[in-house]
Amino acid sequence: MSHPADSQASPTGTTGAARRVLIVGGVAGGASCAARLRRLDEAVAIVVFERGPYVSFANCGLPYHVGNVIADERSLLVASPEIFRERFNVEVQTETEVTGIDRKARTITVRDGRAGRSRVEPYDVLVLAPGAAPIRPPLPGVDLPGVFAVRSIPDSRRIRSWIAERHASKAVVVGGGFIGLEMVENLRHRKLAVTVLEKLPQVMPPLDPEMAVPLMEHLGAQGVELRLGDGLARIERGDGDGLLVVAESGARLPADLVILALGVRPETALAKYAGLDLGPRGGIAVDAQMRTSDPHIWAVGDAVEVRDVVTGQETVLPLAGPANRQGRVAAEAIAGRATHFRGVQATAVVGVLGLTVASTGASEKGLRRAGVTSFQKVYLHPGHHAGYYPGARRIHLKLLFSVPDGRILGAQAVGREGVEKRIDVIATAIQFHGTVRDLAEAELCYAPQYGAAKDPVNLAGMLAVNVLTGDMPVADWTELPRTDAVVVDVREPGEFAAGHIPQAINLPLSQLRDRYGELPKERDLWVCCMVGQRAYYATRFLMQHGYRARNLPGGYTTYRALKAAAMVP
Ligand code: FAD
Repeated sequence: MSHPADSQASPTGTTGAARRVLIVGGVAGGASCAARLRRLDEAVAIVVFERGPYVSFANCGLPYHVGNVIADERSLLVASPEIFRERFNVEVQTETEVTGIDRKARTITVRDGRAGRSRVEPYDVLVLAPGAAPIRPPLPGVDLPGVFAVRSIPDSRRIRSWIAERHASKAVVVGGGFIGLEMVENLRHRKLAVTVLEKLPQVMPPLDPEMAVPLMEHLGAQGVELRLGDGLARIERGDGDGLLVVAESGARLPADLVILALGVRPETALAKYAGLDLGPRGGIAVDAQMRTSDPHIWAVGDAVEVRDVVTGQETVLPLAGPANRQGRVAAEAIAGRATHFRGVQATAVVGVLGLTVASTGASEKGLRRAGVTSFQKVYLHPGHHAGYYPGARRIHLKLLFSVPDGRILGAQAVGREGVEKRIDVIATAIQFHGTVRDLAEAELCYAPQYGAAKDPVNLAGMLAVNVLTGDMPVADWTELPRTDAVVVDVREPGEFAAGHIPQAINLPLSQLRDRYGELPKERDLWVCCMVGQRAYYATRFLMQHGYRARNLPGGYTTYRALKAAAMVP
């Protein structure tokens, strides 16, 4: 999108007075834009309009306030209108909703909720940071008392009061994404029995199905009931004060409260009625400086569409980091600097009752959706630190990379310790357009209690390099039902007896050097062990003895996850 040169920042406004920058929405994107702009330009007048009662509050902390982990509501208030005024000379008007934009006149209409009056405010620059609204499906009963979405401090206050006043003991969370799962954790902290109703066959939709399996098993082990592959049909009043959630399958789930966590939708009404361009994904279209199709109007945060740096496609990504960075970029652009927003790569983490799930870049299903086919993947299950130091916990890690250049496309990890650290390293490598060779070579912290001389990130890189060089050809698990390859499980007989791939034969690595002649040279051999390491040793041995061997990446541990996700028979 290009804009006329006259749209560049000018030191004063059309009236000759200080240039007026008006910001709609005073939380992540809006507040960071206001504060950054003031640090760059003392001359502009900055006014933030916030529909709700608070600015700059920690919406990410709301679930933890419900769970009493953050007991004091005031801890959620990162900055007040007074701080904005005193520290930044930014005027904040809370409980003031912007209801319209007149682009020609360069004015907005605002409704003062306290006075109950509307008025018109002129702007030189307008910044839209209205966020995204929780999706409320048009189904019977979603507006009943006791049905909540979680977006604002008043929402978390209402949920807390409802739990306390009704002595709530049972909740249904509709939607198993980030916010749904954070609510699950916190409702469990409050000792409520929780059922998750999720339309997809998995929780955490950004993950590939097999990577969500350890999380689903963990939720089950923590007493959370999962009803997957079943959507919400309606909510009814139940016995007494209770509610009854009726699923599409007809299942009837009694609850004292219901949390709707079905995702969010960019708040674009203002932009749409003002005739600003929207993008293909329904967010406000912006250029790399966060400028909309109107050169005097910027937009940031959950409401906008941005470029996914991995797939190159437009996306909406409702996360706090991008919203804050975009607010900063917009401020710099408004101040006349040439800063650009790089795009997003969907780096995210969620903690659920002791388990951490994190991901960055594209998932396998995301790549397929985007039409990318030239990629490979490895699975590994290393300890989060050296195995000889007590307390090592497994990290389940999947790395996706492009073939043949090895560019890192994405990674997902699940485990109890050290998960987000590994994903952050890989996320940084993606930012710098890194390849799997960079991961193999990365010099990372190591002492026994923190990592390993070959950190899980290094290992992931090394495995991927081995795939690229042909040192470790990998087989595609999903081809198992169709292959005529011989599946050779190289674990010890006791391990094999405890569970194996149905068509596998057992030839332990410890006997391979003596018995490899028993294997057919004319057939492909797909080699499997528990996590992939012994199979790698066996694959190398067999390849050097003239066999066509491939590793089944991640071994039987990955097989079990794929099977639980119905991806292999
Ligand atoms: P918001 O922060 O939502 O701010 C928009 C503000 O604009 C709202 O306060 C709204 O009242 C106001 N507004 C809207 N329209 C108008 C109008 N017409 N006039 C005046 N004001 C208006 N992200 C993470 O990265 N990690 C997390 O752990 C995480 N946890 C979350 C947990 C919860 C419960 C929620 C709700 C979100 C979470 N997020 C998390 C997402 C993150 O909070 C958002 O991505 C981020 O706040 C978006 O910033 P924003 O400025 O675009 O919108």
